[in-house]
Amino acid sequence: MFEYAPAPESRSVVALRDSYGLFIDGEFTDGGGVFKTVNPADEEVLAEVASADAADVDRAVNAARRAFDEVWGPMPGRERGKYLFRIARVLQERAREFAVLESLDNGKPIRETRDIDLPLVAAHFFYYAGWADKLQYAGVGTRPLGVAGQVIPWNFPLLMLAWKIAPALATGNTVVLKPAETTPLTALLFAEVCQQAELPPGVVNIVTGAGETGRTLVSHPGIDKVAFTGSTEVGRQIAQAVAGSPKRLTLELGGKAANIVFDDAPVDQAVEGIVDGIFFNQGHVCCAGSRLLVQESVADEVLAALRRRMSTLRVGDPLDKNTDVGAINSAEQLAKIQELSAAGEAEGAERWSPACSLPDRGYWFIPTLFTGVSQAHRIAREEIFGPVLSVLTFRTPAEAVEKANNTPYGLSAGIWTDKGSRILWMADKLRAGVVWANTFNQFDPASPFGGYKESGYGREGGRHGLEAYVR
Ligand code: NAP
Ligand code: MG
Repeated sequence: MFEYAPAPESRSVVALRDSYGLFIDGEFTDGGGVFKTVNPADEEVLAEVASADAADVDRAVNAARRAFDEVWGPMPGRERGKYLFRIARVLQERAREFAVLESLDNGKPIRETRDIDLPLVAAHFFYYAGWADKLQYAGVGTRPLGVAGQVIPWNFPLLMLAWKIAPALATGNTVVLKPAETTPLTALLFAEVCQQAELPPGVVNIVTGAGETGRTLVSHPGIDKVAFTGSTEVGRQIAQAVAGSPKRLTLELGGKAANIVFDDAPVDQAVEGIVDGIFFNQGHVCCAGSRLLVQESVADEVLAALRRRMSTLRVGDPLDKNTDVGAINSAEQLAKIQELSAAGEAEGAERWSPACSLPDRGYWFIPTLFTGVSQAHRIAREEIFGPVLSVLTFRTPAEAVEKANNTPYGLSAGIWTDKGSRILWMADKLRAGVVWANTFNQFDPASPFGGYKESGYGREGGRHGLEAYVR
């Protein structure tokens, strides 16, 4: 294998503070409590962060309501759009700072935060800025809902914030957003961007805290809409909490995508797509291609090439520009991945990982492959949310469809084949919100994203993403 000298990105671009407050009504304030956020790559405590209790959530919702009634709701779309364009430009200007901070707090490689997360975040604000004065034309309605309570997970902290905040603001809503407990810092840096863009106070409020803060937010009677991205389990609790109230609800939940490789697929490209599908972002991806379905006649060839490719993946320091796979986001998530992997072995699947040395401190999991997996195995059914791929085989296209759809989820799928007709035939039959053909994990703000079945309901992105925020 190749040896590389370390090539770490400098941390100096980020001015970490010892403590961070909540962002309410345009200002940073104390909360009812505090918690610590750590760097999962070395367990260093990065900062102490305020946690919002019921009184803080109430203050935030009231600020958002006032801003909606007095400023943001009545403002013409073309004026709102200017603020969104300004936010997008500031995000571009400060992209490096955001990328380093995201890698520090989340553990994902700088190569990804720099080249994927941040460009997509800015693109999302630019895209929805463009819709702000064209709602009539979009034909989706022009009346905003009011105050949106938004709760997001830790796997794409700033990108999930962008997916939530940009369409809400473009349509004239104000927001109270709760980031995940393990990754609050880029949301709080985003609050500074709101100040820099001179966004009117109360239009965006950030309440950091644990699950309880999220629960308090979604059940607050003063909000008109709940937008949630996270696990199916918590999504279910939220649906129950909101049921019977006039609140509108969208849920973006888990997934267990099939990445389907046919015998006529170009093997090297397919292997790149398999690797991107499951090892991108440490596999902490709702639409990860965590089930590889490979046609039996080419299974040996594809798996040999995949093992070779996996042996070249570099696992380690997220700030090193050569790193492909960073740290697992938390000790809790690492324990989940370890438990489900152990279950895979216990159920009789065969486990393989490349040789790899890991840092002494921090939370790490070597990219792992399970072969001999059957549909009944837990690793084939449950979302693992880590760098672990289960391999199943099939003989006919009909069998591939049957296996791909044999899951409680329905978020995404991938197809690798030389035949366009087969792509169309398959895409029609796969019960998945997004189907990629000869690629995987491609995101674009113009393209709607969302699931079927236990993957949730509602769409984010594109013109469809506006519909969730207007009457
Ligand atoms: P999670 O445990 O459901 O948490 C998501 C968010 O909800 C966090 O901010 C969490 O706070 C908060 N929360 C926890 N309990 C709550 C409650 N009772 N009421 C309101 N909020 C509550 O999910 P996660 O482990 O952070 O994220 C991984 C999951 O997100 C995976 O299942 C993944 O597939 C899914 N995901 C889906 C999409 C999509 O677009 N479909 C995108 C990304 C991720 P704490 O952080 O304090 O726990
Ligand atoms: Mg953290």
